[in-house]
Amino acid sequence: MSRMMDFKALPKIELHAHLSGSISRQCLHDVWVKKHQAGETTLEDPLIQMPLGKHDYDLETFFPLFSSYIYHLVNDPWSLRYTTLSVLADFVADGVVYLELRTTPRALPTHEEYVQAILDAIAEFEAQVPPPKLRTKLILSIDRRNPPATAFSVLSLCRKFYGHGVVGLDLCGDPASPTSLLHSFTPIFSAARSSLPNLGITLHFAEASCSGTDQELDLLLSWRPDRIGHVIHLSDKIRQRIKDCDKKIGLELCLSCNVHANMITGGFEGHHFGEWWKVPETIVTLGTDDVGVFGSPLSNEYALVAKHFGLTQQEICDLARKGIDIIFGGDEEKERLRKIMWT
Ligand SMILES: [Zn+2]
Repeated sequence: MSRMMDFKALPKIELHAHLSGSISRQCLHDVWVKKHQAGETTLEDPLIQMPLGKHDYDLETFFPLFSSYIYHLVNDPWSLRYTTLSVLADFVADGVVYLELRTTPRALPTHEEYVQAILDAIAEFEAQVPPPKLRTKLILSIDRRNPPATAFSVLSLCRKFYGHGVVGLDLCGDPASPTSLLHSFTPIFSAARSSLPNLGITLHFAEASCSGTDQELDLLLSWRPDRIGHVIHLSDKIRQRIKDCDKKIGLELCLSCNVHANMITGGFEGHHFGEWWKVPETIVTLGTDDVGVFGSPLSNEYALVAKHFGLTQQEICDLARKGIDIIFGGDEEKERLRKIMWT
């Protein structure tokens, strides 16, 4: 039954998408052509650097793709606006009606101007006539490799832009960076909780075995996240702690990313979506993580769970709607989504 479903037409919520990783290769190519012609870049064409159809980036090759390529290509206000508008157009074309994009602020030219430029691009996109069905909010990320001062500045940016489009704070970055560095972030997350009680907190959680120790995950859970992403390498003790949280915790699961990056074994059938999606103490939502890198739009993630876990059309609609309860975008937005999402 569900194989006949139109997953693109299904109104969907995307809560785990990184801005820079969501840029399509064609869009990166367009940026490159303009800069290349103007003599502004010595980088290689993105279509050579990241050939179409190549999606097997793993944790070793994934992070350098950004630090040594994408961040050097998208490095000015023009390319930031251009790529943000392109990302929004791609999500709306895939039937996404609510999006929380996340990004680690960069000095373009200042961190504040970087965030403002993205919010301006979102406002510009939403001002189209007729207005697109997509509404977009921003989550600011602390990279786990950041020194504490940089991480604190991300919290300051949350304070400044809270109520103006920024709805959450995230912890991301290379899971190979040591757990010991995370302790310095505890005051930041507790200050976020006390000074901005409605700011959502989401954390990349147990992405790799090195970042899946009880020591690290106990620390992350002590920050009282509303949502956690990936949730792969965890002990039974942590699994139980997640279920015992007094508030239902949201799990942002990214199937194609995990399979293509070899973060799990057993292919799609072996993905821990199968373990979690019916657990009543949690709320599972599907995310693309980096559709520009892994090439699977959100509609395809729904098609994959229907195919590999046998969800019926009703179960697909229920799964999509469950995400409403864990968005960071506020009650008015939840009301809008309850009206437009399929029952
Ligand atoms: Zn992620």
